[in-house]
Amino acid sequence: GAQGLAYRANAAQVDPAKNPSYQPGQTCANCSLYAGNVGQAQGGCALFYGKEVAAAGWCNAWERKAG
Ligand code: SF4
Repeated sequence: GAQGLAYRANAAQVDPAKNPSYQPGQTCANCSLYAGNVGQAQGGCALFYGKEVAAAGWCNAWERKAG
């Protein structure tokens, strides 16, 4: 669930000590699992079915977008 993924609606609030995979600049908006459109504040995520995540958010399933 969302808690296991350490989702935060604001990536700036991610605690790097608890989330060593986090790198500054990673957000839902540039995650390969994000389904929102560019410029939208939020959008769908493949891992959070039926919910929207914040474009500025982050979770520890972040994956670099191809390309
Ligand atoms: Fe955001 Fe990607 Fe995590 Fe979904 S999988 S919540 S888009 S970082």
